Amino acid sequence: MQCWEGEENTNPGIQGMDKGRKNYVAHCLVLPYPAQGHINPMLQFSKRLVQRGVKVTLITVVSNWKTMSNKNITSIEVESISDGYDDGGLAAAESLEAYIDTFWRVGSETLAELVHKLAGSSHPPDCVIYDAFMPWALDVAKKFGLLGATFFTQSCSTNNIYLHAYKKLLELPLSQTEYLLPGMPKFAAEDFPSFLNKYGSYPGFFGVVVNQFANIYKADWVLANTFYELEQGAVDWLVKIWPLKTIGPCLPSMYLDKRLQDDKDYGVNMYNPNSEACIKWLDDKPKGSVVYVSFGSMAELSEEQTEELAWGLRDGGNYFIWVIRDSEQGKLPKDFVGTSEKGLIVAWCPQLQVLIHEALGCFLTHCGWNSTLEALSLGVPLIAMPLWTDQITNAKLVRDVWKIGVKAVADEKEIVRRETITHCIKEILETEKGNEIKKNSIKWKNLAKNYVDEGGNSDKSTTEFVTELAHRCAASK
Ligand code: UDP
Repeated sequence: MQCWEGEENTNPGIQGMDKGRKNYVAHCLVLPYPAQGHINPMLQFSKRLVQRGVKVTLITVVSNWKTMSNKNITSIEVESISDGYDDGGLAAAESLEAYIDTFWRVGSETLAELVHKLAGSSHPPDCVIYDAFMPWALDVAKKFGLLGATFFTQSCSTNNIYLHAYKKLLELPLSQTEYLLPGMPKFAAEDFPSFLNKYGSYPGFFGVVVNQFANIYKADWVLANTFYELEQGAVDWLVKIWPLKTIGPCLPSMYLDKRLQDDKDYGVNMYNPNSEACIKWLDDKPKGSVVYVSFGSMAELSEEQTEELAWGLRDGGNYFIWVIRDSEQGKLPKDFVGTSEKGLIVAWCPQLQVLIHEALGCFLTHCGWNSTLEALSLGVPLIAMPLWTDQITNAKLVRDVWKIGVKAVADEKEIVRRETITHCIKEILETEKGNEIKKNSIKWKNLAKNYVDEGGNSDKSTTEFVTELAHRCAASK
């Protein structure tokens, strides 16, 4: 394993690690799965590493990186590998399964080529921090004698459930109505991720989520974008079997501890946000009055669901700002735009700036893990409307465990009706239950900040990771 000797490092974690020994700074390659919800937290963690004197090279995927805008990550270098579909990525593949098959093969080959190339550079890599979705990256790292850290962009509760499925400790298809897994609250089968509770629905993704654990025993560290208090039981259980560190929530520093100056956004966007228009529109709305609606970067609503949501938002009579990606806008009812003067529809927005705006009242969300953590960290109450994957599990935690939101429950046709939408908005904005939820949201917001602030558990875990990394590099010299 190779390490490079940095300039004098002023970071206390590294300086203090071993007085008298030369200070080494490690070089990490950071490889996220090419999706907004995976790149954001791994990029954010990378900034925390750079803050501690680590050199970081972000490994992007050619097809995905081409489509990104606002590439504002000057402290981090960027290299690319291929998913086998340099023009078009997933959209160019005949199926998800074909995409994954090709990506896993070509990605592994091109990552090996890249590591080989960088090994001959003046700063050869020491460690690959890879998205848990892509366990082959750990095999590449080990082949080159590098350290490997698995990074989970999903909750530890979800990890716990998937791990049980991987180890076949959960029989599939699920046959019980309720489950009590170690470290977890009681879960109804329907609150498990969709790949389990609708077994067979997406075999390609099912393979990805359970295979995350196939070689994890070879990882030198396991990093998770969560914080201890949020998922204490699940973390306590996983830490017994993995070298786990919880290092989240991975949000731009200026929204939490404010120790990374000017770190106000993640740095890359799959779509161009219309930031000025969104914030200007919010600026003259009364405090706590606006419902923010977004289903993240990937989810697709049916036409019927889009229509119910549209009329529910209009009927509720509240201000709303609704992110509908360009590819989804055709599903809006023809006569909707124009009938509601209280709504703003945008193709993408600066989500963190919207969440922190004082006009915001609540967030109707699909409960992607990043959106959930962002709202929780900014004290925004949620209306959980999960669609698939781990969103279902996150929604359960939001409503029943952290008590920071309500759930918009779907009917037997799996559609959330307009009456349910208006009821949930009223519940959050106008009732005593809503006030309790707001109080809980503020409690979690403060905890999240404390965890990443100086001396907080996530801050210490990140420093520990860097210190251990530096030791391992020094020891191998
Ligand atoms: N996001 C954004 N603008 C939008 C919608 C989403 O910046 O209009 C960001 C959001 O802040 C989050 C990410 O996109 O960091 C979505 O990740 P999440 O895990 O919530 O959902 P996914 O897209 O993976 O389903």
